[in-house]
Amino acid sequence: MLTSSNNPHRSLYQYLIRAGHRIKPLQQTHAQIIISGKTTSLPLLTKLITSACAADAIVYTRRLLFSISNPDSFLFSSLIKTSTKHNHPVDSLVFYQYMLVCNVEPSSHAFTAVIKACGNISAKRIGKIVHCHVLVNGYGSDRFVQAALVSFYAKCNELKVAREVFDEMPQRSLVAWNSMIAGYEQNGLADDAIRLFCMMREDGFQFDSVTLVSVLSACSQVGALGLGCWIHNYINCNKLLVDPTIATSLISMYGRCGDVTKARQVFDSLSRKNVITWTAMISSYGMHGYGNKAMEIFRLMKLHGPTPNSVTFIAILSACAHSGLVSEGRLVYTSMIKDYGIIPKMEHHVCMVDMFGRGGLLNEAYQHIQDMKLVKPGSAVWTAMLGACKMHKNVDLGVIAANNLLAIEPQHPGHYVLLSNIYAMAGKMDQVEMVRDVMIQKGLKKPVGYATIEVDQKTYLFSMGDKSHPESTTIYRFLDDLMKKCRAIGYTPASESVMHELEEEERVHALRYHSEKLALAFGLMKTEQNSIIRIVKNLRVCEDCHVAFKFISLVTKRKIIVRDKLRFHHFDDGACSCLDYW
Ligand code: ZN
Ligand code: ZN
Repeated sequence: MLTSSNNPHRSLYQYLIRAGHRIKPLQQTHAQIIISGKTTSLPLLTKLITSACAADAIVYTRRLLFSISNPDSFLFSSLIKTSTKHNHPVDSLVFYQYMLVCNVEPSSHAFTAVIKACGNISAKRIGKIVHCHVLVNGYGSDRFVQAALVSFYAKCNELKVAREVFDEMPQRSLVAWNSMIAGYEQNGLADDAIRLFCMMREDGFQFDSVTLVSVLSACSQVGALGLGCWIHNYINCNKLLVDPTIATSLISMYGRCGDVTKARQVFDSLSRKNVITWTAMISSYGMHGYGNKAMEIFRLMKLHGPTPNSVTFIAILSACAHSGLVSEGRLVYTSMIKDYGIIPKMEHHVCMVDMFGRGGLLNEAYQHIQDMKLVKPGSAVWTAMLGACKMHKNVDLGVIAANNLLAIEPQHPGHYVLLSNIYAMAGKMDQVEMVRDVMIQKGLKKPVGYATIEVDQKTYLFSMGDKSHPESTTIYRFLDDLMKKCRAIGYTPASESVMHELEEEERVHALRYHSEKLALAFGLMKTEQNSIIRIVKNLRVCEDCHVAFKFISLVTKRKIIVRDKLRFHHFDDGACSCLDYW
């Protein structure tokens, strides 16, 4: 049967090919190899062993490997490559180690694959050892190995080293560019990701959809709408395929950069939409406080779209919370459990507590937390509760929430700030003092706030009292003039919610030069009168800036959109879309 004609060697190889990745036929052929005495034929054994590995028969693969008396470089390279490709990264490392034990010199392919495996399991230490081997063996400037190293270091969050390897590459491959850009983007260094993408553009390097998905996500992080639009245009002009991944990235980018109308246009133009696309659209509306529109999309989804999943429900419940749609939210929540069989996770509970809390139903919010049976209330739930207590000035529940929160996260400065604000509101100044003492004892400081603004496709970052910008004198003067005009029509600086440990004078000064105010002043100076100003803030917008921005929108007749940690604020003609609840 198996043995045939004049070239038995060849026909065994064909049997192996025919066996594919099915373990039974592979073992049958293995038996034939033994019977026909071909157990030293490396081409046959290489094919057999890589097929066994691809068939996920790892124990068999190992046994085969260790039985071969003369494994060569090609066999090892193929095997390491296959195990990395078929998601057996640990085995890839084992085979690599055995290769060294057998005194076989690794090839460029073997290095590339084993480094990739290290990246996939974040095996930082081993990866660095392999990097040493690369240099010793003279593969330091092999572009495949280098690209794998860039990706490995980026995945292990060692972006500086990744960048060093990247910069040393004489010829950068698309994989290297994409790994570096994705590395920056996934580590929250959106600015660096964007800068590198601009470099890629200037170098005339052809990018692909993987690059664009990373860059769009970076644009979302810093609110770089201009660049996001450029990418959208590029996709249209070059007739690139808009698959659900790219489409979702575009919708999220427009949504998170503050242009929800454009997000909807992209959404409507799609012929194919998956769950993530629908969810992205719901979430975009939700962030902007357009709860009814989010509900409309949700209804359409239930009628014509894929079945909503757990994440979809987080998006719709959060939309209800941000728009005060309490009764709608309640129905959605019940339906999620009853009709869709989804067990609420922490995120769903956070939305519910947030929704009741914002709506002023503090007791109901508290009851919801107490009813949480399957999930232990985490810090996010108590943060929502605490925020609501502050909003509605409920000291008793606020203290309960704060104590629960501090029991979970005793080192989080933001919780102490909220607690002390609640005490301050109730006029309990001795308690305020106490919280302040605890913070000093623990050496806790409020996280640093910053705001970004995009002007002419370039993003500018401002922190509080920042004087690093070359035009900062002009910016400060402009801002002072602006605040003077606001004061003339009734604005008074608030200080209630600002950190209690600042002395009065510092307080006013710090408030006046908050990062978002500096970014706004810069934006007003540098953009056309009829354009919309978009600012992204990493923390929650403070009360004073919120009031000030309303006045500024009135004084300057400009529309200002601010994305803070929680949601969007659209300031126009002296009012904000959040109706002062955020
Ligand atoms: Zn502020
Ligand atoms: Zn607002």
